[in-house]
Amino acid sequence: MSKNIRWTLARNRAIQTLGKFSIETFPLQLFKLIDKIPHLAIMSYLEMCKQLNEQAYSNNHISVDWVQEHLADGSQDAALLKMSNSKDTIILYNSDLFASGITKQRIRYSIAHEIGHFVLKHNFQTMIARDGLSSSEYIIYEKEADAFAATLLMPSSTFSNEVSVSKLREQYDVSKQAAEIMVDTLTKKPFALPSIRLQNFRLSKPRNYAIPSDPFSLLGFKYYAYCSNCRGLTGGSSPQVFCTYCGSKLKAISYEYDFFKIHELFGGQIMKYSEIKVDSSGHVDTCPRCQSDVHPNDFYCPICGTYLINQCTGMFETNDPFTMQSEHLNFELEENSGCGMKLPGYARFCTNCGAVSTFGFQDLLHPWRVEYAKKIQSDVTDITDQDLPF
Ligand SMILES: [Zn+2]
Ligand SMILES: [Zn+2]
Ligand SMILES: [Zn+2]
Ligand SMILES: [Zn+2]
Repeated sequence: MSKNIRWTLARNRAIQTLGKFSIETFPLQLFKLIDKIPHLAIMSYLEMCKQLNEQAYSNNHISVDWVQEHLADGSQDAALLKMSNSKDTIILYNSDLFASGITKQRIRYSIAHEIGHFVLKHNFQTMIARDGLSSSEYIIYEKEADAFAATLLMPSSTFSNEVSVSKLREQYDVSKQAAEIMVDTLTKKPFALPSIRLQNFRLSKPRNYAIPSDPFSLLGFKYYAYCSNCRGLTGGSSPQVFCTYCGSKLKAISYEYDFFKIHELFGGQIMKYSEIKVDSSGHVDTCPRCQSDVHPNDFYCPICGTYLINQCTGMFETNDPFTMQSEHLNFELEENSGCGMKLPGYARFCTNCGAVSTFGFQDLLHPWRVEYAKKIQSDVTDITDQDLPF
């Protein structure tokens, strides 16, 4: 047992870990790295809770709070759980960020910190807890894991010449506090940087995206889904079947409360599609076509006849123009309203049955393909024009 904090070793181990598993892209994709480390896995408190209940370890129903209290040492962020029956270690993390008010960046740091304990072989009995450790040993382990985490997320050899708190936050997806400490280290304590360099690296697109709002609930969505076809992000109170932007069937990328996973896996790619603001009943307060003020009880705009509520039409997109009815549809009548689902203002398709939405049907929203093509084109321009010295 070493008595001193092994600062340089902790930092260099972080660089070696990145190099060994060929992790070259920043913001660091934590799930991708953990996937490559033998005998290390990651799971949210909620996933662990579900797994335990499925395997019926106990006659009593296990709650997420129980998992947090008993398996994660009461941590609000993350903890390391060493399995007694195998060589495996599991990083448990809190995915319910909305309820706890914790940022995704803080969870990222905590997960990186737990990877640090694992890689640095901090010898805890069953989990990272104070149990069985003197307080000075505990403090040493914590500081080493923190040094590892900061380096793993922000290897200084990948920094550009001008480093600032805002740049670090954007390029490495870290909290303000973590970025401030790094800037402070760079300017005042350069000796506290790792002594080895990461050979290959590239900075990917920052994870800038807007989470779609839920007009039907102040609490936001319970389930989020990322669509790999149109890169759109949608949400709902139940798992969604169809993508609301492109209408394609979603391939099981819907996580209960676990927005953190979507952030980690797809953060840099998420597309923002245009929307029309609607209220909690899916109704607009201004006509999206002629901009007249409308009454909340109006189904149709009294000026131009546009249907004012976004909902399922029950009609499916088709290449045959004759199968698509286009005139004299009464959407408020049940026979024309499909599955009856009220939809948010950005919905081109019904998330429940995949039919066209009333806003999509009336061409009030730009077709997703048009917006997607524009975005892809501007991304290509971004890459080719970037930081050329001539
Ligand atoms: Zn720790
Ligand atoms: Zn889609
Ligand atoms: Zn109108
Ligand atoms: Zn529907």
